[in-house]
Amino acid sequence: MSASEAVTDALRELHARFAGVDEGRQADYIPELTRSDPDDFGLALVSMDGHAYSAGAADTPFTLQSVSKPFVYALALAALGLDEVSRWVGAEPSGEAFNAISLEPGTGRPANAMVNAGAIVTTALVPDSREEPAFGRILSCLSRFAGRKLDVDEDVHGSEAATGDRNRALAYLIRSTGSLPVDPVQAVDTYFRQCAVRATAVDLAVMAATLAYGGVNPVTGERVVSPEVAAQVLAVMATCGMYDSSGDWLLRVGLPAKSGVSGGLLAAGPARFGLAAYSPLLDASGTSVRGRAALGALSERLGLHLMRNP
Ligand code: GLU
Repeated sequence: MSASEAVTDALRELHARFAGVDEGRQADYIPELTRSDPDDFGLALVSMDGHAYSAGAADTPFTLQSVSKPFVYALALAALGLDEVSRWVGAEPSGEAFNAISLEPGTGRPANAMVNAGAIVTTALVPDSREEPAFGRILSCLSRFAGRKLDVDEDVHGSEAATGDRNRALAYLIRSTGSLPVDPVQAVDTYFRQCAVRATAVDLAVMAATLAYGGVNPVTGERVVSPEVAAQVLAVMATCGMYDSSGDWLLRVGLPAKSGVSGGLLAAGPARFGLAAYSPLLDASGTSVRGRAALGALSERLGLHLMRNP
């Protein structure tokens, strides 16, 4: 069997194996997210030659939510460099939930750019450019990672803006420690807009593949970020991308990854592939139940664990 037949087979088989799992629940603290179809389940893998493999609902759009965070972190790193970004946001796993009201003792910085507190700061660090305001830069950056023009789901944005007081509280708390460089209301609204950018599982796999390919989108051939920035982002995804289950994920699945509360999940195999799943039923840590199961099984089946000596 060729390598590409093995991938197609594995995606189809895992899709069939996990499609019936109905544990978990949709995130409802952003009411609009409950309008997604709980039966949707898509898987996608993009190789370094830009070939996309998929199974199930891999072309169904959903909002990025926290899957946006590593890519906006990449944009901030590219604009300001690691030293400047690290003055504002750390790179240590917090061991806490994604929305924890907690900052590093001593520095007052958020622990890392993958939890909400750190992502709000990262978003606030993206400066307006002469050509574009900050959100325009964020949207074009996410689009270049995906290799096509993405847009905002205004209903999801409105829904989170109407209910997102916890994130607003976090932004004010960060501001009180001197760790937020802009107005909290503005920072949180830009963050909500980036979370409401719409993409599919295939898009997520292309985005992950771009990080895996050293910052070059393997479908469009465009360099989106430098190899250094791509490596820095993957490092933080590996240690912090799965929130309070990051250690367990690295132990069992062995890949840098990022989950989001709409049910998107992506993982990257450096120099090898980008991988993604979409299914809106979430476990207690806010990760897609079917996505976690399928990516874990795929890693085992194809021997993808990064620490493994083939
Ligand atoms: N917009 C969501 C929030 O800030 C993202 C959380 C997530 O996807 O983990 O609560």
